[in-house]
Amino acid sequence: CDRALLAARSIKGRYGTYFAAYDDALRNKLLREQAITNGMESALARGQFEIYLQPKYRIKDDSLAGAEALVRWNHPQWGMQSPAEFIPLFEKSGFITKLDQFVWDRACAVVQSWDEKGYPPISVSVNVSRADIYNADIADILVKTVRKYRLPPSRLHLEITESAYTENPKQIIDTVGRLRELGFVIEMDDFGSGYSSLNMLNQMPLDILKLDMKFIQVETAKPVNQGILRFIMGLARWMNLSVVAEGVETRDQLVRLREIGCDYVQGYYFARPMPCTKFETLLRERGLASKAEESSSVRPL
Ligand code: C2E
Ligand code: MG
Ligand code: MG
Ligand code: MG
Repeated sequence: CDRALLAARSIKGRYGTYFAAYDDALRNKLLREQAITNGMESALARGQFEIYLQPKYRIKDDSLAGAEALVRWNHPQWGMQSPAEFIPLFEKSGFITKLDQFVWDRACAVVQSWDEKGYPPISVSVNVSRADIYNADIADILVKTVRKYRLPPSRLHLEITESAYTENPKQIIDTVGRLRELGFVIEMDDFGSGYSSLNMLNQMPLDILKLDMKFIQVETAKPVNQGILRFIMGLARWMNLSVVAEGVETRDQLVRLREIGCDYVQGYYFARPMPCTKFETLLRERGLASKAEESSSVRPL
């Protein structure tokens, strides 16, 4: 970081004020990153992290199938922060393993509290950072967490990003294979964003493919794009995997995903990630609706 600053300064020296703005922007970015890293431990201790839940729906009957837990930082000065900026910094520092354990714990706690209230059981997907895979205790920690809330491991889906699979295939096969044997449901997140070969996919311990948003957000009406989606669906069926499409933002995208037989959908078209209390309202409405009459559509489709 210091080196980057020095480099920026020497450029500034040579090219005068042209680079002054760049220099300032870079300095501010580094200062902000430092503030994030310095504040993360105390933020966790002070309860500034919270999980939001984004609903996931079964495409065949439009019923609520589960949720993805996404962490938010309720920062006293900056307000509610999305993870795109802080997660990479937490991954660099190693703090992510601690934060992920907090998220898993909260996710299980909320699922148990809803079970106790008698809502139809749902599963929650949590993100597992690549750093967690290298933690020798990950299986013990996850098992302890689900036991603490008396949940079967199958109620917790573990989302592991595709690029983690390609980094160290042997370690992934060992660790994730063990988690799968223990009963956790394994999802490959961001599928198609990296470079996993089809050959490798076949050897990976997996239950669900979670299609990267870019597949959904391209012009799905173009035959070639629809063809790619169809191909992936065919492959998934052949491998006995379910498919989730994330980042669904329009009705048109939903229609095309239905055409190719995709199993689950998640995205802003249905709902943004929301606080757990708000999700509970959804669960209450949907739960009651699905018991009473599936066809009386609660959400317009
Ligand atoms: P992800 O796991 O791929 O999660 C999906 C991201 O897409 C979320 O962003 C979600 O809010 C966003 N999203 C959902 N539907 C739509 C849509 O229709 N359109 C668009 N444009 N975006 C949509 P978010 O919450 O900002 O999280 C970003 C990434 O940060 C996540 O990507 C995940 O990789 C990471 N992350 C979030 N929470 C955690 C966590 O607890 N632990 C770890 N290790 N990573 C996390
Ligand atoms: Mg995810
Ligand atoms: Mg993810
Ligand atoms: Mg994703």
